[in-house]
Amino acid sequence: METLLSGKPIATLIRGKIKELIAEHGIRPTMQLIQSGNDPASAYYVQNIVSTGTKLGCEVQLHNLPADIGQSELMAIIASANADPAIHGIMLQKPLPRHLDDALAGESLDPSKDIDCLNPVNLGRIILSQDALTPCTPMAVLCTLRHYKVPVAGKHAVIIGRSAIVGKPLANMLLWKKAWADASVTVCHSRSENLADLTQTADILIAALGRAEFVTADMIKKNSVLIDVGINEKIGADGKTGYVGDIDFNSCAAKALAITPVPGGIGSVTTSLLWLNLLKAALGAQGTNKNIDDFLDFIFRE
Ligand code: NAP
Repeated sequence: METLLSGKPIATLIRGKIKELIAEHGIRPTMQLIQSGNDPASAYYVQNIVSTGTKLGCEVQLHNLPADIGQSELMAIIASANADPAIHGIMLQKPLPRHLDDALAGESLDPSKDIDCLNPVNLGRIILSQDALTPCTPMAVLCTLRHYKVPVAGKHAVIIGRSAIVGKPLANMLLWKKAWADASVTVCHSRSENLADLTQTADILIAALGRAEFVTADMIKKNSVLIDVGINEKIGADGKTGYVGDIDFNSCAAKALAITPVPGGIGSVTTSLLWLNLLKAALGAQGTNKNIDDFLDFIFRE
């Protein structure tokens, strides 16, 4: 196994396979991207989504809403996208303005178009091991483990973080009875006592807590696999802002068997999986139902 589990080759592989499937099925997966307000960071992400979509052969219809849009108007726009057969996937760009209830908006998405996995129906299906549109970051963790052939079945995976977008769905996905999952899972959080005692037992440690370089070498088991989901800003010695993960890469890399970098790790894979969800939704809309295994077997076959 390689010691640096870079996300870039996985993202390239996934994008290439998406293009192949789009060409094979002669479809143009179409996303409605709903952005509201004028947050500069989200404007940057929106631009990236539009340009990546174009490169892949997808269409992105941008719905730019005023910052003072009301909840009922937002719900009406979602209802109209739900009802439009030409739209295969709907993405709500976060953050929504603070007066809007994003949980309510997520619940109103048609689960079959919910490509960012905000609807509780998709999260419920994940818990029940049913096929679903899966959240991109947890899926990126599983794709990384699978691509680098990290043994997962029967291993002890410890996750630090229990958020609805990372820790909780990931814990459930790692429990799936599949050759590339099937782990024993422990989930830790800010109230966990003796956290290091738990993390030291991990064969696979996944840090998703949002605290820069929190996990240090004394907290990990020798020869464990470290997956860093965190992305935290850090001002370097040169005064420039860079990014670090939740794992202290320098102290942990020497003790671990393998580790994901930040940046260039899980985040790179995450963004490519949004398009896989859009493709899955578009194929489903035309009656070609492919499940997660179909896609992953196609992407990661030898
Ligand atoms: P979040 O909603 O803030 O959740 C953080 C979780 O970590 C919570 O469950 C919290 O516990 C736990 N936690 C916080 N401090 C802790 C501590 N000292 N010890 C143990 N547990 C602690 O964060 P998130 O949205 O899941 O994101 C986590 C990190 O992943 C962030 O750095 C974020 O930027 C990054 N992220 C990356 C991607 C990607 O694609 N790479 C995607 C999403 C997020 P409580 O529940 O007890 O509060």
